[in-house]
Amino acid sequence: MKVLFCSSEVVPFAKTGGLADVAGTLPPELANLGVEIKVVLPYYKSIETKKFKIKKIDKDTAVAVIQNNVEVYFIENKKYFDRASLYQYNGVDYRDNLERFTYYCQQTLKLAKKIKFKPDIIHCNDWQSALIPIYLKTIYKKDVFYKKTKTVFTIHNLGYQGLFPKEDLALTGLSDAVFSIDGLEFYGRINLLKGGLLFSDKITTVSATYAEEIQTPQFGCGLEGVLQKRKSDLSGILNGINCQDWDPKKNKALTKNYGPDDIEGKYNNKTNLQKICKLKVNNRIPLLGIITRLADQKGLDILAEVIDKIVQMPIQFVLLGTGDPKYHKLFESIKDKYKNTAIYLSFDPKLAYKIYAGSDMFLMPSYYEPCGLGQLISLNFGTIPIVRKTGGLADTVVDYDPFSKKGNGFVFDNYQSGALLETIKRALCVYHDAEEWKRLVRGAMKCNFSWEASASEYYTLYKKTIGSKK
Ligand code: ADP
Repeated sequence: MKVLFCSSEVVPFAKTGGLADVAGTLPPELANLGVEIKVVLPYYKSIETKKFKIKKIDKDTAVAVIQNNVEVYFIENKKYFDRASLYQYNGVDYRDNLERFTYYCQQTLKLAKKIKFKPDIIHCNDWQSALIPIYLKTIYKKDVFYKKTKTVFTIHNLGYQGLFPKEDLALTGLSDAVFSIDGLEFYGRINLLKGGLLFSDKITTVSATYAEEIQTPQFGCGLEGVLQKRKSDLSGILNGINCQDWDPKKNKALTKNYGPDDIEGKYNNKTNLQKICKLKVNNRIPLLGIITRLADQKGLDILAEVIDKIVQMPIQFVLLGTGDPKYHKLFESIKDKYKNTAIYLSFDPKLAYKIYAGSDMFLMPSYYEPCGLGQLISLNFGTIPIVRKTGGLADTVVDYDPFSKKGNGFVFDNYQSGALLETIKRALCVYHDAEEWKRLVRGAMKCNFSWEASASEYYTLYKKTIGSKK
């Protein structure tokens, strides 16, 4: 089976969030199962050509090879992709994003022909590649090369839909006929994600709970009707994590490697983190970490309501994040006010490893969370997640029960700052029972969120989509 995997970000080349982790890890896993798979992404300026041994194949295409011999193709265009960042600058989206990703989608379809890779499946991800299934069912409808190609579309976050003024439709090369209520029209604007949902053969999202939630007005972001209509083609497949990168036994960024049978090394990492963060070095002070995009979705509004109360408790607090300027301002002021906090308002994958390994608890109070990688990574590092019961968080974190001793984290349901605060307090109570906490840490590290199981679910879906019984 041949699969063309289209994503606007792919680890290790370019990343702003979880989509990149998925796009860099799932294709090699699928290759392991025997799928012939190639990945396509824009050739952003930030991509390090030498480091990744990227080779030009012609004027506007380059290629590199990642694990399991998977080829990653880069679509080059200086005008569109030679920018400081991927989608926006200083919190404001690039004005020509429609043009930029139209170019990416059009070139991707041309590329497959150029390299004579006739895909059985084109797997698209989020709004940036949503034009591909639309093109296949319109402009490419009679194209012989793509006659048998089916499409799978994965929603990584319904909150980002690719909305553009209707006057810009001509930029996509599509006819006015697609701009209707049953097409790309969304309250008078073009909605690329909606198009992807309507024109793809199958739709997936990244957890079973999120697949249900997005069919409701509370989480459907206005597209719940479309999703209900396509319910029989919609399913949830949980993301895994790259066990190479996120394995505390092997990760080279750690001060000391450790594993479930030898958790003492975790405390060397805690000491190191306390030193880096200029916090008091003391193993018995509970250290709360958070690594996140600074966006309302991530529960920062309820965190903001109780942040003073949290950091006034006998704890240490480390935050790594970047995003909404209002949260930059808030956490700058927290940094100035409280000595037991360390705030890093940047994107720093190396520091992220150190925080995952050195923290005792990891906060993820998200309002909604399609899958969430932070809780999976932190579990791998024996850092106990404190999460809200939504989306993938609900599917992967089980609330600790002091009687049965079951559970791998702390979970609250109501999206309220009080509930968050109470849950942190509940976790701190267990933390002070050192033996019980160590048991929790070991148990967390034994949870298995590798890609293997998810990759075989995607493979089964691909086979179903093309009608293969094998
Ligand atoms: P989302 O994709 O919605 O941002 P996920 O939890 O699915 O959230 O994935 C976020 C990924 O990005 C995780 O791998 C997390 O460690 C990483 N990450 C988020 N913010 C930062 C940051 N400021 N520095 C380094 N890594 C970050």
